Amino acid sequence: MDDGVLSNLREVREEIEGVAREVGRNPAEVQLVAVTKTVAIDKIVPVVQAGVNHLGENRVQELVDKHPHFSGAKWHLIGHLQTNKVKYIKDKVYLIHSLDRWPLAEELNKRAYTGETIDPFNVLIQVNISGEETKYGLEPSQVIDFIKEVAALPGLRIQGLMTMAPYETDPERVRPVFRELRLLAGQIAKEAIPGVTMQHLSMGMSNDFPVAIQEGATFVRVGSRVFGERT
Ligand SMILES: *Cc1c(COP(=O)(O)O)cnc(C)c1O
Repeated sequence: MDDGVLSNLREVREEIEGVAREVGRNPAEVQLVAVTKTVAIDKIVPVVQAGVNHLGENRVQELVDKHPHFSGAKWHLIGHLQTNKVKYIKDKVYLIHSLDRWPLAEELNKRAYTGETIDPFNVLIQVNISGEETKYGLEPSQVIDFIKEVAALPGLRIQGLMTMAPYETDPERVRPVFRELRLLAGQIAKEAIPGVTMQHLSMGMSNDFPVAIQEGATFVRVGSRVFGERT
């Protein structure tokens, strides 16, 4: 069983490296986040043993349940985050990919404090580039103003942008989505907003991560290509 997962992992890693090199990028700039949603602990163990230390979950409950098994890993919350669940992930989450609204920013800011001490949450802003109604995220035109407001909160550190592309059988078709996210990050970087960096672009999943890397992804979120189809 594990053999399948490990050979999948090897393929994915080789593809990440190969594509990065092809476009003249340093493969070390592209981090694999292994998306473990619905995957049993037993199946995750060999992947972590093989050196994968960035793990992603889209639900708070699953992240909280799995965290004690891999507490040395860097945990990414990649899915929609409800305001009332923020309290459960403090001290467990390395990066939140899905900041998309002001009340969530306020709650994160509040929870970042322990008395007078601040331990900021690292966040990416989720942007709905494709405009699909079913997707979370800010409209591109709202992002700069939103970031300027959030930048004033000491409990959050904005480190870049995240998007989800629509599913397409031909991943070439989503290239414009990834490209637009990169261009938007470039515009934001030019604003030189204090405390804000655009060092990360979280984009690309099993189906389309090679295209995302060509377009500048620094985090690719890959689930089924490593662990197999979810049931
Ligand atoms: C599930 C999920 C992924 C991974 O999806 P795969 O197609 O299995 O690679 C990536 N990002 C988010 C936000 C997800 O919810």
